[in-house]
Amino acid sequence: MNAIADNAIVAAKAWVLSAKTACYQCHANTRVFAILLAGPFTLRGEPDLVVSPDDDAILTLTTAAPLPNEALAVIDESSRGRYRLDHSHTAGSSYWMNHCEACDAKLGDYYLERPGEAFFPMDDEGFDQLHAICIQGPMEFGEPSCGYNGALAHWIANLSTGQFHDVSASHAIPGERL
Ligand SMILES: [Zn+2]
Repeated sequence: MNAIADNAIVAAKAWVLSAKTACYQCHANTRVFAILLAGPFTLRGEPDLVVSPDDDAILTLTTAAPLPNEALAVIDESSRGRYRLDHSHTAGSSYWMNHCEACDAKLGDYYLERPGEAFFPMDDEGFDQLHAICIQGPMEFGEPSCGYNGALAHWIANLSTGQFHDVSASHAIPGERL
């Protein structure tokens, strides 16, 4: 049912990440989500990418377009509707963003971009908080804005690609073969 986007990225796999963080508004501990895309990639049109992705690149995703059904199903179930399309005054546009489980405050994408925030861990303790679910594609993401987070990309690359669903940090032993 998704409308055809002029600009799109087709990813071989996607990862739904979750982590806990304190809401800036009500200070409740809430889960936040992020979507990562893994190659090989196919591009259509001129999607907004900060890096030109090679086949084993792992990119962060921000988008205002509908998510592919496979990704939507996982993120809806995981987030219980807290990760949804909404308007950002900061960005001046709408995109898929997190909302606090307690007070529903909008939680912008700075969790992905600021060192020390939930999706930009600076130490092992931070990485231990991360939880990842892999979704096999290929899947098309319309009107994407893709960034790169080296710490996350490295962490994901070290997760076993041989098993999916609920690959938690405790299983993320670099080089492990399952
Ligand atoms: Zn809150």
